[in-house]
Order: sequence, then structure tokens, then C-alpha cells
Amino acid sequence: MSRVPLRRVFAELPPYVPGARAAVGAAAYKLSSNENPYPPLPSVVAAIVDGAADVNRYPDMHATELTTAVAGRLGVAPESVVAGTGSVAVLGHVLAAVCEAGDEVVMPWRSFEAYPIAVALAHARQVRVPVGPDGRLDLPGMAAAVTERTRVVLVCTPNNPTGPAVRDDELRDFLAAVPRDVVVVLDEAYVEFVRDPQAPDALALFAEHPNVVLLRTFSKAYGLAGLRVGYAVARPRLAAGIRAASTPFGVSHVAQLAALASLRAESELLTRVDAIVTERTRMLAGLRAQGWDVPDSQANFVWLPLGHRAAGFAERCAHAGVLVRPFAGDGVRVSVGEREATDIFLAVAEAHGPR
Ligand SMILES: *Cc1c(COP(=O)(O)O)cnc(C)c1O
Repeated sequence: MSRVPLRRVFAELPPYVPGARAAVGAAAYKLSSNENPYPPLPSVVAAIVDGAADVNRYPDMHATELTTAVAGRLGVAPESVVAGTGSVAVLGHVLAAVCEAGDEVVMPWRSFEAYPIAVALAHARQVRVPVGPDGRLDLPGMAAAVTERTRVVLVCTPNNPTGPAVRDDELRDFLAAVPRDVVVVLDEAYVEFVRDPQAPDALALFAEHPNVVLLRTFSKAYGLAGLRVGYAVARPRLAAGIRAASTPFGVSHVAQLAALASLRAESELLTRVDAIVTERTRMLAGLRAQGWDVPDSQANFVWLPLGHRAAGFAERCAHAGVLVRPFAGDGVRVSVGEREATDIFLAVAEAHGPR
């Protein structure tokens, strides 16, 4: 037994539970981690193979070519883009850059399970504001939860795991209500899947509000979850702080090349995103036709508010060959994947019934 004491916070830290993986040899569709069901494009695989030849060297420390390409795509200054080992890591660097011990971070809940962990590790205190029964963030409630100690507010849009995106008008009211020295992180991991015409244009809000930070990732729409690359967009001084807090050489050379190749293949990848959105529509329509009351999803997953039946439902799905993500006592998140997987999932949902 090790006698080394861990920080007290570890006693309360919820674990980040990875989505279930299939047992070796078992056939199963993995709808448990919001991954992209499509394998990488040949051009992206070629870039990965190319990059392999240089892995005896450290990568470009700040992923300059990638951050410049992203900045060009988004129409922001290159100094505003900070790449990291997935946007989860970048969130940790944002918190490390601005939080002193005991500062408060306001967040919706239920939301992304990485948030409580990231906040605790940053020595900050989490202030949770419940998400409504329709799965939507309570932005007025979150604005009201801001105090003198608040340094950051996390706005997950679309919200993982419930699915809805915030509306532009409510987000503008929220930004007007939050002090300008409080960082508002718009976590847009699923932005490419949003089709709600009332959703905000985060880049316009970034241009108007110096305290807005965007988080985006190559893990979901671009299908590079396994390579770990995401980024923040922040005003240059804040971006420099986030960069200073980052793991040195965090984004591997292989990941940088794959992300660049994905940007070059963007139209092809966004066609795949369209297909996933079509499948999402079919999933939601199928569930509603069965009588399920599910929130509007703007992401690549749907949420079933099953309460205490969540774990049992996930088990039945696994038996039928689809792995989903239960949040015990709360609900089940089902990623949008292959058509056949949707069919199996809908059959289980029908047999189980909404009540
Ligand atoms: C998946 C996800 C991310 C991105 O994770 P990576 O570290 O970039 O793979 C960020 N935020 C939310 C809400 C997510 O669901």
C-alpha cells in the first residue's frame, strides 16, 4: 500500500467513464462514445502514414501550420488559435490559465462528464445549474449563479449528453448579463452537426465579446477521436495564457498532419456529417413515433431520459448488439452511427417502451 496522500479532491472526483467497448470477437455497434462511425478517408490515412516517418522528432510545438490553417478557415487571427491534445485537454489549460484556488466555475448539469474533473483538477469549485427537463441549458439561471468568485462559465452547446443547442437570442442576453472579466467558454464539440436556425454564430459572438472562448475538436465531425486534437479560439492575450499552460508538444506530428488533411478534405467530411444528421432525424422520428419524449438533438447522439431504468435499458441494448452510454439514474445517451445500428436500437426502444 502506498502511503503517499493524494489530493483530497480525489476522494470526491467522479471518474470519466469511457463508453463501453465490444468484447474481443463480439459483434457490436459502438454507440457509446459519440464517435464518427466512418473510417478515416484514404487521404487522411496517407497523411498519417507520411507523418509516421518523422516520429523520432518532436513535433512543431505550437502546431503552427495547423493553427494557421484553422485561423484562416474561421477568419480569426492565428495568435487566437491554441491547439491541444483534444479539446478536453485544452479546457484544462483554459482553467489553469485563469482560475486561482477556490475560484468558481459555473456549469450546466447534467453536462459533459469531463467538466467536474477538469474543474476540480484546476483547484476551482464547481457551481452546477440544472439543465431543464427538455434537456436545454438554463442560461438565465447560469447568469444568476455568477458571483464575485466566478472566473469561468461553461456553455456546452449542443449539450452533451442531452442534445439541444442554445439559441442565439438567449446566449446574447446571457453574455450581456455576465461581467466582462468572466470567461465564457462555448464548448462546440458538435457544432458541425447543428441544423437549428436559431443556434448562435459563435464566431460572431467571439468577435463581439473579448471574454468568449470557443472550444472545437477534430474528434467528432472530422473523425479523428483517436489522434487527440482540438483547439481553443481566444483573444491573443488569453490565448497566450492558454498556450503557456499547455502540455509541451501536446499535438503529435501525426495528429497535426491528419488534421490538416481533414481540413483539405472538409467538403467530403461534411457530406458524411450530413448523412449522420439524416440518420439522427430518422432516430428521433422513430423514437417519437414510439411515444418517447426525447429532447431535440443538434449533435451526433440522442438522449433518453429513462431515470432509474437507464442501466437496464443499456443492458438490453448490449444484448441486442448495440453499446450505448447509460448515466445511472438519469438517462441513456445513444450516438448516431450505422443505419443497421439505428434499426437494432429502435427495435430495443420499441420493445422496452417509453414508460
Ligand atoms: C467529445 C467532446 C469534447 C471533445 O473531446 P476531445 O478531447 O476533443 O476528443 C469536448 N466537449 C464535449 C462536450 C464533448 O462531448
